[in-house]
Amino acid sequence: ERGFTRARVDGQFVAIDDEIVLERRKNHSIDVLVDRLIVKSGIERRLTDSLELALKLADDVVVINTLGGGDRLFSRKMACPTCGISIPEMTPRAFSFNSPHGACAECQGLGAVYDIDPARIVPDESLSLAQGAVRPWAVGDSGLVGEMLAGLERTFGIDPTVPFGKLPKKQRDIVLHGAPTRRTSRTSTARKDRTPREPFGVDFEGVIPNLRRRFSEGAWPEQEALEPFRALQTCASCGGHRLKPESRAVRVKGRRLSDYVGVPLSDLQPVLETLELSEREHLIAGRVMKEVRERVRFLNDVGVGYLTLGRGAATLSGGEGQRIRLATQIGST
Ligand SMILES: [Zn+2]
Ligand SMILES: [Zn+2]
Repeated sequence: ERGFTRARVDGQFVAIDDEIVLERRKNHSIDVLVDRLIVKSGIERRLTDSLELALKLADDVVVINTLGGGDRLFSRKMACPTCGISIPEMTPRAFSFNSPHGACAECQGLGAVYDIDPARIVPDESLSLAQGAVRPWAVGDSGLVGEMLAGLERTFGIDPTVPFGKLPKKQRDIVLHGAPTRRTSRTSTARKDRTPREPFGVDFEGVIPNLRRRFSEGAWPEQEALEPFRALQTCASCGGHRLKPESRAVRVKGRRLSDYVGVPLSDLQPVLETLELSEREHLIAGRVMKEVRERVRFLNDVGVGYLTLGRGAATLSGGEGQRIRLATQIGST
């Protein structure tokens, strides 16, 4: 209908007019042949039109087959044609943790989240489990806690009389984060849906997941009671780097943005000065690099080389803030 005459079905070129018989139970790869060209000067216009047409037909993906070169798959979206991962267009706001386009979704760009703090669960590692090392258990129902400790000893060999800090890491992890089978099967719906049969054994939930769940499900009084066990923790999703994964994946000359903003300005300056741009890169980033270099140089010159670019504005002294405001006026006129 659209004027195409040939297709490629499972690698074989066929005329579209022919009757094409497909086996029903098989997956087939079907391409529409949009154009065939001999590469020589003068075809630019037609090549562009054909590519545009193919990209439009196939949702921004096109296969270019060359004699001897075989198939090459191209995508106009910033997507990997092999695994399908795609990233949005890279704009300045994608690198700002103050913008929803750049911020880590887990911590909203704060780099930290309020969560159950292991150090508050076991404030004194010299105590054994039986002596009340796990703070929330020490204030809980002693009969129930006794049952739990017996179950953990029976199932995982966790000795309740050994100081918590002396237990093998594996056992401490079980107490804090839950039984290994439970942790690995968290995504398996089959297991999640059934009622745990041994809450003090192979189905042990772990102190932290338990408190986390009770906090998120609990009413205000329960949340209030759990508050002492919570603290600001480095965001596990972004590792404190505050940006979403797509932005964190971007490298400039092999370094992440956080590598640039995380070092003192005095160390950053030589890195920036020696950064060499190719002709193409210079067209893209030359002006920006010039401004960045000038400002960093200025800040070093006025004596705040010990600061990092990632330093929160609220933590600066009056004098530091003043010098930074001056730096922002350089080169931006
Ligand atoms: Zn890929
Ligand atoms: Zn985060």
